[in-house]
Amino acid sequence: MGRPIPKPDALSTPFWDAARKGELKVQQCCDCSRYWFPPVEYCTRCLSPRLEFRAVSGKGKLYSYSEAHTGARLSHFAAAGNYLVCLVELDEQPGLLMYTNLPGARADQLKVGLPVTVTFEKISDDVTLPQFVVDVTAEKGAL
Ligand SMILES: [Zn+2]
Repeated sequence: MGRPIPKPDALSTPFWDAARKGELKVQQCCDCSRYWFPPVEYCTRCLSPRLEFRAVSGKGKLYSYSEAHTGARLSHFAAAGNYLVCLVELDEQPGLLMYTNLPGARADQLKVGLPVTVTFEKISDDVTLPQFVVDVTAEKGAL
């Protein structure tokens, strides 16, 4: 059984279109400037329906992480071996969290607060998956 592939819907299509071009875009409220991820129908802070996807830096910090062991929950990932499930807090806004993987990283190398930067993995003709890697240029002195 292969890896599940995200299915863009009307709300998330701009996010996936940007990712296919190697850009990380996050929805932002046009009225109060708050960022939202995952995408929302309206801003739950000011109730504005005026939201736009805007490019963000792709920089953030490791907020939390866990290691999933082979086949522990999803058989789709059995062939992948152990993998990391992470939450990254994007630099644009405290609490702007994104679930992700850190391909190539090991759990024993990670610490909460570690600087990370976005990378993109094409997983099908239609879907490119934003993921994160440790930002070695920002790592020194970050902890
Ligand atoms: Zn708002």
